[in-house]
Amino acid sequence: MSRIQLKLAAALAGLASAVTLAGGYLAESGLRARQIEQIEQSLDERSRLVIESLGDLPFEPERAEALYERAAGAAHAANARVTFIARGGRVVADSGVAPADLARVENHADRPEVRAALEGRVESSTRLSQTVGRPMLYRALPLPGESGAVVRLAVDLSQVDAAVAGLRRELLIAGAIGLAAAAALAFVLSGLLLRPLDVMRRTLASLADGKLDQRVRSTSRDELGQIADAIDHMGEQLELRLAELVREKEQLQAVLRGMVEGVLVIDGHGRITLANRRLRELFDLPEDVEGTSPLEAIRHAELESLLLDAAAGDAPVLRELDFSSPRPRTVRVHAASLEDTRAGGVVAVFQDVTEVRRLEAARRDFVANASHELRTPLTAIQGFAETLVSRDLPAAERKRYLGILYQHSERLGQLIENLLELSHVESGRRELERVDVDLRSEADRALERMRPRFEERSIRTRLVTGPGAGESALTARADPRAVDQVLENLLDNAIKYTEPGGNVELRVSLDGDRVRIDVADDGIGIPREDCARIFERFYRVDKARSRALGGTGLGLAIVRHLVESMGGEVSVKSTPGAGSVFSVSLPRSP
Ligand code: ADP
Repeated sequence: MSRIQLKLAAALAGLASAVTLAGGYLAESGLRARQIEQIEQSLDERSRLVIESLGDLPFEPERAEALYERAAGAAHAANARVTFIARGGRVVADSGVAPADLARVENHADRPEVRAALEGRVESSTRLSQTVGRPMLYRALPLPGESGAVVRLAVDLSQVDAAVAGLRRELLIAGAIGLAAAAALAFVLSGLLLRPLDVMRRTLASLADGKLDQRVRSTSRDELGQIADAIDHMGEQLELRLAELVREKEQLQAVLRGMVEGVLVIDGHGRITLANRRLRELFDLPEDVEGTSPLEAIRHAELESLLLDAAAGDAPVLRELDFSSPRPRTVRVHAASLEDTRAGGVVAVFQDVTEVRRLEAARRDFVANASHELRTPLTAIQGFAETLVSRDLPAAERKRYLGILYQHSERLGQLIENLLELSHVESGRRELERVDVDLRSEADRALERMRPRFEERSIRTRLVTGPGAGESALTARADPRAVDQVLENLLDNAIKYTEPGGNVELRVSLDGDRVRIDVADDGIGIPREDCARIFERFYRVDKARSRALGGTGLGLAIVRHLVESMGGEVSVKSTPGAGSVFSVSLPRSP
């Protein structure tokens, strides 16, 4: 039984009890009063009959025997106790007392009913009789005339009490039945009333637990039905709002996931509430970084103070910070306060500008290098030209100066040509072909073209093809002109950096799905630490030597760009003093 059922049953039982008690009390006292009234009336009638039957028998003690007989007779006829009281209150006969015992009966002048009778009124008195020891109702009438005597009748009230007790018993039984009925009714009624309430309670509990598809679905149109409808409406609204929130959240998460910028959100207590994937990648943060502080997670004092500045001020803060771990990076951080939102805090967007800054630096370096390289021959040209203009020089010297002028202008031309070439390849403006190129015959032709220069420096050359490579197997998908240029550059370097009498070998071989050309020399070699950098623009191991040999420092940069543009790779292996091997691999023709 539920608590409400208990309360309802208790209330109904209380009501039934109260009604039974009040009704019982009223019924009981009403019944008693009516019965007494009836007894009084009949006593009065019977008294008058007794008085009539007395005739003129005087109330004197000497006549006690005769009076007793009358009293006893009257008592029998009237079914009551009859007492004769003489003037002054002395009892002269009593149907309940033998004449011999009369002397012991006390004077009755002070009995209320006797006093009233003597004063001419008729009054009842109810009390415990001292003479017979039971509750009695007394009623006295004066004898007619001036005798001052009184006839009193009394009846035993036990019958009335018994009747009242009977009634009380019946009332109690009725009350008990009423109580049981009330309890049963309360149980049934409250059960009926509570069933929809219980359904509503369970539905609400489910809604509170997040099961938003639960409904009461009441068909009743009463107040409970209206409450049920309100609950169902609330459930629908909750479901709609939640779906909307989920959709918005998913959208936001998709946006955050797809962003190239890192996003960090911190709440009003300085704890991370959101870190998108990009941010976690940037700083190698764990998946569960939420809840920690940015200082704990990223360990960067400047970032911490930037976030504090953003949280304190109303203007967004933009700064570029350098991070050394997990990788050296330059990051632009844009942080703004979220003070107009409920949770407060800061949102910061991280943009990795490492590559941008690197490219800027590379461009600056390139401009500086290029201008420097161009200025060197230009300064020489200006110097010699000035000397030629201002001074009268002997013909032989003039000729030598003019020769130097020519050399520098040629170098200037070479530089500009290389720069233009590089810029063309780099910018992608030069469209490279993709045709089948037989690398063996390309290598052969390149060697043939440069033979005079090799011979000039007494360098022996050899062309070798790798094992298992048939005639058609050494064909690559490439641009023939670019391949020529690459081979020419590499062979040119081999000539420049190999002492006279040295050896240069050109090896063409198959390497998986690639065709490889190695240009091997036994020249001066390249120190290990420079190997990684010689493909950079203007990078030279020995500037003076390169320049003296007419080098620009751009040859290998052009080679790398051309090879990579054809989908190939270039690398170098070298031992200082022993020689170098430059390897170019290009995609093989299918
Ligand atoms: P350069 O015009 O100076 O030759 P490159 O870009 O062709 O410019 O070469 C860059 C540098 O690499 C050269 O200055 C030289 O120091 C080194 N180098 C290139 N090829 C060789 C080689 N075969 N042997 C030794 N050093 C080489």
